Amino acid sequence: MKNVAFPEIREALRSRKRILVASHLRPDPDAYGSAIAATLWLRSEGHEVTLWNEDGMLDKYAFLPSSELVTAPPAEPVSFDAVLALDTSVKNRLGTVLDAIAGSPLWICIDHHKSNEGYADLNLIDPSRPATAQILAEAFLNEGITITPEMATNLFAAISTDTGSFQYEGTSDRTYEVGAELIRLGVNVSELSRLLYENQPRRRLELLKHALVNARFTSHDRVASFALSLADVEKLGVIPEDNEGIIDNLRSVEGVKAAAFFEEMPDSMVRLSLRSKDPSFDACNLCREFGGGGHPMASGARIKGSFVEVQEMVLKAIDSALGSPAAKV
Ligand code: AMP
Repeated sequence: MKNVAFPEIREALRSRKRILVASHLRPDPDAYGSAIAATLWLRSEGHEVTLWNEDGMLDKYAFLPSSELVTAPPAEPVSFDAVLALDTSVKNRLGTVLDAIAGSPLWICIDHHKSNEGYADLNLIDPSRPATAQILAEAFLNEGITITPEMATNLFAAISTDTGSFQYEGTSDRTYEVGAELIRLGVNVSELSRLLYENQPRRRLELLKHALVNARFTSHDRVASFALSLADVEKLGVIPEDNEGIIDNLRSVEGVKAAAFFEEMPDSMVRLSLRSKDPSFDACNLCREFGGGGHPMASGARIKGSFVEVQEMVLKAIDSALGSPAAKV
């Protein structure tokens, strides 16, 4: 796969009027923030830009500036001259957005997932960056593209959440420099952090309680996992966006090297969220075995099968990837 530099992408888009910007389903702030910032940039260059996400704009992130730009795709397909996919490791993670694109537009992808094999005509994939928004922010800064306070806030929210508040693997001096530059450009860090991290609905605490009470520790306590069945969802009254981040509470336990979250989905599918805390365990490689992908320390997959059997199969695969505890020095 050949990577292109950002100026080549900007040049390719110059002559294309109608552009669709899109990002992955089950969106997080990197999916939203990078897509909103890119939309504002492309509009400032005179393009007609549409921004779609399968899930539309989740209430949880509606505080992001210009969040009203995000809509769910329509039922009738629409033609575009180009599609810019952001933070989306495989095309099918765009979900129903794919069904709403008519004709054959130029495909461009900007992403930071290691598992991205480059499905677009022009790909800028940089797994060394902890967030797609960092790739974009650096590109805007290098190219002298004006970053408005709205764009800066979206980019900062994306970088902050994808790095676990500037902590996770992949966070570098450059990440802090980009963050500092975005603050200078107008981010109100305390207000944004309060909205991102201290504004959870009470029902999410019910989910956290469920996760803590039902947590399983396997592979000699090196793996922590919890499962959420459709019946649990009904009982707890939670919605999909409540799940995000709960797994981090299990990963944070001393001695735990991997944390897994199993969510029962309709149609005999199970959604797996996998986290690693030990660089020698690559969550992305494991999720790839099950048709998914992501990053070495945070990955996911959707697996067909019975809820219980999928859990046992995945836990067994993690156990064999970790190897025997005695073998570890
Ligand atoms: P999640 O556990 O859903 O928060 O996802 C963790 C990371 O893995 C994110 O970067 C996702 O984009 C990626 N990911 C999650 N599910 C899949 C999947 N089914 N296929 C490819 N990548 C995925």
